[in-house]
Amino acid sequence: MVPLAQGNRASEMGRVRYRVVVRGTVQGVGFRPFIYNLARDCGIAGSVLNAGQGVIVDAEGAPDAVRRFLEAVRAHPPRLARVDEVSWEALPPAGHTGFEIIASTGGAEIEALVPPDVGLCPDCARETFDPQDRHYGYPFTNCTNCGPRFTIVRELPYDRPKTSMAVFPMCPDCAREYHDPADRRFHAQPVACPVCGPAVELVDAGGKPVPGEWRRNCWDLLAEGRILALKSLGGFHLVCDAQNRDALRELRRRKGRDAKPFAVMARDPAVVERYCHLNDQERELLTSPEAPIVILKRRPGTDLPPELAPGLKTLGVMLPYTPLHFLVFTGPFDLLVMTSGNYSELPLAKENVRALAELGGIADYFLWHNREIVNRCDDSLAAVMDGEVQLLRRSRGWVPVPVRVPTGDGPVVLGIGGEMKNTFCLLKKGRAFVSQHIGELDHLEGEENLFSSLLNFQRLLDIEAEVVGYDMHPDYRSSRLARKVPAEKRYEVQHHHAHLASCLADNGLVDERAIGVILDGTGYGPDGTLWGFEIISGDCLGFKREMHLAPVPLPGGEAAVRSPWRTAVAYLLTYLGEDGDRTAGRLFGGHGLELDVVRRMLAKGFNAPPSSGCGRLFDAVAALVGVCTRSTYEGQAAIELGELVRDDAEGAKLGVYPFSIEEGTISAAGTVAGVVEDLERGVPVETIATRFHNTVLEMVREAVRRVGAATGLRTVALSGGTWQNRYLFRRARETLPLDGFRVLTHRQVPANDGGLCLGQAVIAYRRWSKECV
Ligand SMILES: [Zn+2]
Ligand SMILES: [Zn+2]
Ligand SMILES: [Zn+2]
Repeated sequence: MVPLAQGNRASEMGRVRYRVVVRGTVQGVGFRPFIYNLARDCGIAGSVLNAGQGVIVDAEGAPDAVRRFLEAVRAHPPRLARVDEVSWEALPPAGHTGFEIIASTGGAEIEALVPPDVGLCPDCARETFDPQDRHYGYPFTNCTNCGPRFTIVRELPYDRPKTSMAVFPMCPDCAREYHDPADRRFHAQPVACPVCGPAVELVDAGGKPVPGEWRRNCWDLLAEGRILALKSLGGFHLVCDAQNRDALRELRRRKGRDAKPFAVMARDPAVVERYCHLNDQERELLTSPEAPIVILKRRPGTDLPPELAPGLKTLGVMLPYTPLHFLVFTGPFDLLVMTSGNYSELPLAKENVRALAELGGIADYFLWHNREIVNRCDDSLAAVMDGEVQLLRRSRGWVPVPVRVPTGDGPVVLGIGGEMKNTFCLLKKGRAFVSQHIGELDHLEGEENLFSSLLNFQRLLDIEAEVVGYDMHPDYRSSRLARKVPAEKRYEVQHHHAHLASCLADNGLVDERAIGVILDGTGYGPDGTLWGFEIISGDCLGFKREMHLAPVPLPGGEAAVRSPWRTAVAYLLTYLGEDGDRTAGRLFGGHGLELDVVRRMLAKGFNAPPSSGCGRLFDAVAALVGVCTRSTYEGQAAIELGELVRDDAEGAKLGVYPFSIEEGTISAAGTVAGVVEDLERGVPVETIATRFHNTVLEMVREAVRRVGAATGLRTVALSGGTWQNRYLFRRARETLPLDGFRVLTHRQVPANDGGLCLGQAVIAYRRWSKECV
C-alpha cells in the first residue's frame, strides 16, 4: 500500500487512481449501490465489483475527491455493512469517465450468498407511512437494507427466482428500482409493492376471509380479547392484548403453557421504557437490524398483568420488525403478546393451511399472507449481562451468518447439537454455519424439523457433511439421526466437553487448553450417569473430569426434573437422614402418596438415577424455599430462584453456606443443612436465595483454585445454561480474575445447549485432523 496521493506524478496532473479493497461484511448488504452513489457524489470515476476478498473499487478522480470518498466509505457504510479494513494501491490514471457496477465474476464466498432476515429499515418505514409514496400502507415494503432473506430462500444462487418471491413478477416501478444501481432497492430480491407483491388477508379459524379493512378488524378482535395468529418472517406468532388478563389466561390454556413467560412486542422504545429499565446497550440491541427479543428488568409498580411472566421480574420484549407489525401498531394497542405460534414445544407453524390445522384450536383468527415461508426461523433471544450481549437463542437475524472459528481446511463437519434447544452447525474452512433454533427434540415433530432443516441448510450452503460430531447420550434423537447421516467419520462427544469446546471456539481459541466450568441441567457422562456440575480441564481434542458435584438420586428420573420438590426430598434424605425425612414430611406432606412413592424409590434406589446436575441443585433449593415445586418449562426453578437474588453490593455480603470438596467431589451437604436452618429461623427467601448463589460461586472459585494449582491452567471457560444467571455471570467474572484467572464467556452462540453444536463440530474436526492428517 502507498500513502494516498503522495509522490504520484499523476496527482500533479490533477488526477489519481487507486484500486481499493474493502473487507468486512460488505456483500449482500447494499454496498455496491452505496459505492456507486458515493462515487457520483464525490465526482469519482471507475467501477465497483464483488470479489472473493471483498468489494473492489477502481476509483479515479481529483486527490481531494478520492480522499473524501475513502473517508466516507469508512465512516458511513450502509446499515448492514461492517467495514473491517480499507486498503488501496496506486494505479496509473486510465482516464475513466462515468462509474459502473461490474457483474460479479464468481468466487464470492458462500457466506455472502444468503443473508439473514433484517428488521424494517428507517427509509422503508418512512415510505410505508408516507401517503404520497407508492408503498404507503404496504405490509411488505423492503429494500437492500431490510426485509426477508434466509426465510424465503429455496436454493442458490440467492436470486428472486430461487425464493418464494418467484411467484410475484415485479411491476415496472419495482423493476426500475431493482435494476437502478443508484437505487436503494438495487438487486433487493424481495422488493414488492401493492401492485405486484404479496397481500395480507384476515381469515377466521375456518379459513374464511373476514370482510372489511383488515387493520380495523384486527384491532376490534384484539379489543374483544380474541387471539390472532399472525404470519411474521420466520413463522406464525400468537397475538393478543398484553393488558387483557382474560385473553392471557385463555392463551395459556389453549397453548398448553402454564408459566413460561410470553414475549411481547412494544410499539416503540418509549413504550418499552414505560414498563422496563432500558440502558444504552439494551436499546441498541432492541433497535438493531437483528431485532431480537431482549430480556429486560421490569420497572416495579407498573400495571402489567402477572399472567405475562408469572413469578418473574423480567420481560422479553421486542420491537416491530416487519411493516406488517408496524401497521398493526398504528391502532389502539401499544403492547401485544407476540409468542411463538405453536402448541406446547412443537415446531413453529409456517404454512397457511397447516397453521389452520395446527393453531386452529388456539387462534380465533389468522392474519396471514401469500408469501411462503421457506425456512422456519424463530425469534432470537438476547440479554445484556454485565455489559455483554449474551444470546440465549441465536436464530432470526443472525442465521445463516457464520461464526468465525480459526480451523483450517478439511472436510465439512456437522455438529448435530443436543436434545433441548437444539441447533446444528456445519463447519467449513473456519466458518461455522450455526442453524436457526430447532428446539426440543423430545417428540417426532422435532426430529423431523431437525432433519428437514439440515437438508435445507446443506442445500443453501451447497455443502454436505463429511464428518459428524454428536452427543454420546444413547437416547438422544439428534444422536440417532447423526448415525444415519451419510458421512465418512462420526465422533461421539461428551456433552460437557462440547460445552467447553464451544466456549473456546466462540472466543477464537481452538488451540487453547482451559479449565471448563460447565454448569447445566443434564448431560450424559461416559460412566453412564447424569453429569451437570463439572469442573473439567482440556482442549478441543480431549478433556479430564477434575471435579464435580456429588451425585444425588433423582426419584423418577425425568419426573424429578418436572417436579423439583422430588429432588428436594432426595437432597434432604441423602444429606440430613432422619431430620431430612421429617423436614420433607413437613414441607412436602401435601403431595401425600406421591411423597411415599418418592421415599420408597430413594430407599430402594429404584428408578432413581444419580445426577450431579447443577440445575437439579437449583431445583432442590427452589423447592425447599417454596419458590417452585413444579417446573413447567426448562430451567423454571433456577430462573425463578435467580430472580430473588439481591444483585447489589449487599448481596455479596450475605455470606455463603458450608460445603466441602474432597478428592474431586463437591458436597452440598452443608449447603442443604444451611438452607433448612435458615428456613426454620424464618430468614427471608431473598436472603436464602442470595446466600445459595454465593455458595455456588464459592464452590466454583475454590474448585478452580485447586484445579488451577494442579494443572497450571490459568484460563477458565464458563459454559452451560446456568451461566445465563445474571448474578452468577457477573460475580464469576468479577471474582475469578482476583485469583489470577482469565475468564472466557460465550460471545456469539448461547451458553446453553443452543451452542452445543459448535463444540461438537470443533471436537470432531480436531479428532479427524489428528487421525487423518
Ligand atoms: Zn428498507
Ligand atoms: Zn411493484
Ligand atoms: Zn448442556
